[in-house]
Amino acid sequence: MQVLVVGAGVVGLAIARTAALHGHDVIVAEATGGIGNGVSSRNSEVIHAGIYYPTGSLRARHCPRGRRMLYEFCGSHGVAHSKCGKLIVATNTAELAKVETLLAQGRKNGVEGLELIGGNAARALEPELSCVGALLSPESGIVDSHGYMLALWGELEERGGRIAFETPVERISFAAPHWRVRFGGRDAGTLAFDAVVNSAGLGAQALARRIEGYPPGEVPPLVLAKGNYFGFAGKPVFSRLIYPTPVDGGLGVHVTLDMAGRMRFGPDVEWIDHESYTVDPHRADTFYERIRCYWPGLPDGSLVPDYCGIRPKLSGPGEAQADFMIAAEPAHGLPRLICLFGIESPGLTASLSLAEDVVGALET
Ligand SMILES: Cc1cc2nc3c(=O)[nH]c(=O)nc-3n(C[C@H](O)[C@H](O)[C@H](O)COP(=O)(O)OP(=O)(O)OC[C@H]3O[C@@H](n4cnc5c(N)ncnc54)[C@H](O)[C@@H]3O)c2cc1C
Repeated sequence: MQVLVVGAGVVGLAIARTAALHGHDVIVAEATGGIGNGVSSRNSEVIHAGIYYPTGSLRARHCPRGRRMLYEFCGSHGVAHSKCGKLIVATNTAELAKVETLLAQGRKNGVEGLELIGGNAARALEPELSCVGALLSPESGIVDSHGYMLALWGELEERGGRIAFETPVERISFAAPHWRVRFGGRDAGTLAFDAVVNSAGLGAQALARRIEGYPPGEVPPLVLAKGNYFGFAGKPVFSRLIYPTPVDGGLGVHVTLDMAGRMRFGPDVEWIDHESYTVDPHRADTFYERIRCYWPGLPDGSLVPDYCGIRPKLSGPGEAQADFMIAAEPAHGLPRLICLFGIESPGLTASLSLAEDVVGALET
């Protein structure tokens, strides 16, 4: 098939590479001038184990499977990564109950090696930590997400696929047996494809509305939840990822480490109504308060505003956390079209697994 993938984020690239490996003729259309310029360059770069997600959800399916595939891919393609492990910490008895629930859910999701440890055992691993107990997840890790996307792009090109940059998709219509796609930008024009994947991240809903015949009622609402990060001006004090118990809309302000050995904190949850990428320095006050629950030694003046990312959510504040949405023909009635909505965390971890299922669905 001639396949068009819209969006050169981590998910679009993974789908394009998988489709190319399956022998399809693949073009990726990307509105900006490079890969990973959307949500994919503004995240924690954490390889999630797959603990949190409700049984039967797409995230429970794709996170653990995607994580195993991602470690294997990074190993075989020379992508920098580290299986550094993670602790989800309880700072009081109420949180201990939450951590126990997470342990049970993680085990149901097939996450390997999870272990509940006491406060002293946690401090033996991470001496700066203050907690009454913790869930140890040895399978969690970090990845150089840009290196990963470059490797996907490389393999796509090796298999004859290509990316058209500065090429926004403007309209899509089905004229049997083909999809007719109108592009703007650098390579403006109309081309025909056998199959189309809408993997446009924050732009997925807007694009779906420009697909002729796509039922408007089937386009889910897009809810924006900004996640701000603060960098730590000092030497890292933790060697593992440290997470508090989850909060409404996110996983809580956690300690993330990157492959360059830096330590940073975030993301928090800031519900917004339009895209904006500035980090309000005043949010540091809340960060100090939250981080000191599990790291009382956080020095004054050590947090510096860093970057932020926007989660393309399908649910809002106070609502049950929505799952990923993979809309294929049964959802919208159109052949060989797949729209991906709400691909927030753990989309980076899940990318290779999502790609397998999306390409499989196009082939059936
Ligand atoms: C704060 C935050 C922290 C996160 N942390 C983690 C984490 O630690 N681990 C993890 O696994 N996941 C994490 N995620 C989730 C992960 O980053 C995303 O799920 C993933 O990056 C989504 O990739 P994508 O390819 O779907 O979207 P994007 O990367 O946004 O790519 C979509 C692309 O489509 C392009 N586009 C849009 N409209 C059009 C159009 N009409 N025509 C052509 N191109 C178009 C855009 O320019 C963009 O490049 C986090 C997300 C956020 C926001």
